[in-house]
Amino acid sequence: MFSRSRRRLTLFYAGVMCLFLVVLIFVVQKTMEWSLTSEQSNELMDTATSIVDAQHYANQHTDSSLNDDNNFYRNINERLFFYVFDADGKLLNFSRASFRIEPFILDVIAEWDAPDGDVKVYGKTAENGRETKVMMTARIVYQAGNDPQTVYVGKDVTAMYYGLQKATYALIFLGILALIAASVIGFFMSGKAMVPLKEAYERQRQFAADASHELRTPLAVVMASADLLDNAPGINDPFLKQVIADVRDEVKKMSRLVGDLLVVARSDNKALKLNRTNFDLADVLEQTVRMITPIAEKKNIAVTVDKGAADEGAATKVFVYADEQRIRQLVMILTDNAVKYTPQNGKVTLGIDRTHKDDNKIGFFVADTGIGIADEDKERIFDRFFRVDKARSRAMGGNGLGLAIAQEIVNLHDGQIAVESKLAGGTKFIVELPAD
Ligand code: ADP
Repeated sequence: MFSRSRRRLTLFYAGVMCLFLVVLIFVVQKTMEWSLTSEQSNELMDTATSIVDAQHYANQHTDSSLNDDNNFYRNINERLFFYVFDADGKLLNFSRASFRIEPFILDVIAEWDAPDGDVKVYGKTAENGRETKVMMTARIVYQAGNDPQTVYVGKDVTAMYYGLQKATYALIFLGILALIAASVIGFFMSGKAMVPLKEAYERQRQFAADASHELRTPLAVVMASADLLDNAPGINDPFLKQVIADVRDEVKKMSRLVGDLLVVARSDNKALKLNRTNFDLADVLEQTVRMITPIAEKKNIAVTVDKGAADEGAATKVFVYADEQRIRQLVMILTDNAVKYTPQNGKVTLGIDRTHKDDNKIGFFVADTGIGIADEDKERIFDRFFRVDKARSRAMGGNGLGLAIAQEIVNLHDGQIAVESKLAGGTKFIVELPAD
């Protein structure tokens, strides 16, 4: 129970951390991308403005100033490139992009449809899988009397994107490391938090075990005394006889409760040791039916063993390697409940579940035609002291511990117990045990 809570706490903590890290990485990555691209696009727009100014100058001084190189835009950044076209598509001025990307740039220019001054990023994947990214903008150079010219300015930003990608991978890697560290720390911390809880729980368990153990002797003495009184020749008054019978009944119920409490308290501490042997499960079912029949007959309930398809003679033994006493107790709890919660004239059927024949698992079931269990109660019936209808359970001699013990026995055997039931439609408990 504690290790399950610890695992759950760790998982929850790791989940929250994971979510937090994913959001953090996403935000950091987007912020980096935004700051880098905005920086680059500012630079691109500044360059475009300078080129447009230089082009204006060139347009106004077509003859005389051609020699005055200082007034032309000179590209000093080799990642930057520009092309100036007139309205007829004639190339007027340029600083070429590298030959590797130029055809791609010219394709982009040919299909350019972005508004004036807009910055866009285009990508192209080469045959060798390497992606090239360019950031481009276009500006119109208006001139009086002539058609406008267009300046296309761009920058090869592949390196920047690769850098960004690497930084993102590094972030993800660091995030995974942080997550692992957080999970390990979470596991240790939740373990520490469990210590006082465990101690308190252990004290409580020990108290229940001691109390129920100590109560057994006085109860046995009261029972023996009631037996003595019952058989005492001097007591003939029917009223007194009835009082003695009531006392015996109550003491019996109490002894059962105390015995059940002891089983539950011990099972918490794993003090319930299994004494495994090979025995015939079919025989246990048969014997349980024989033992319960006198009680069931009072309600005219037919309790039978369903032999299923294997009923072809004597070969119906089903050997299982388990603690015989505990399995007997388990079958009895389920059968007793089936009889308790089935009204007059009903049916209770026990049987071997043969669907697991090849599976190294052996199953059996206890089915009844009784009152059934509502869906919302199915989860809770295995809880200690849980009873759907307390008054009914008590009247039947129940204390709400039967199924909790059944579950414990199944767990100790590394098996599984399941319930199929519908309100007023009967109940079927199915138990699955490892065959060896
Ligand atoms: P109890 O001593 O009350 O029978 P259990 O732990 O054995 O306690 O069962 C818990 C509750 O589960 C019961 O009070 C009853 O409401 C429900 N229950 C158990 N077995 C059956 C059954 N075969 N049919 C209907 N209800 C059942």
